[in-house]
Amino acid sequence: MEISHIEHIGIAVADLEKAIEFYENVLGLKCYRIEEVEDQKVKTAFFQVGQTKIELLESTAPDGPIAKYIEKKGEGMHHLAFSVRNIEKQLEEVSSKGVQLIDSKPRKGAEGLDIAFLHPKSTKGVLVEFCEKR
Ligand code: ZN
Repeated sequence: MEISHIEHIGIAVADLEKAIEFYENVLGLKCYRIEEVEDQKVKTAFFQVGQTKIELLESTAPDGPIAKYIEKKGEGMHHLAFSVRNIEKQLEEVSSKGVQLIDSKPRKGAEGLDIAFLHPKSTKGVLVEFCEKR
């Protein structure tokens, strides 16, 4: 396994504008990018904190994964993303160790990263994302 650092922490929010206000006005961070990822039915806002980013996620559709998550669990931490090298190889490796994958092959995420999710049933309840910058 070749994990270099925590790339970002994904946080599900009901209202992106209000969440950005909190991160900017209370925590003093600066939103440097807002991006919609149609594929995942989300609008994202990014903040850089050292080597790691905070990724706020607001659903763009009532049936989107983030809308469903908030319905079930409320707003809060949604996933943990590790920066890896050779994402296909890492997916094969964890799969060979019995981890259930949500994405058996990487797909395009925000910021042009290749991303893939591991199933939280296999990862002690945390939705884990691998991402690789190409
Ligand atoms: Zn993410």
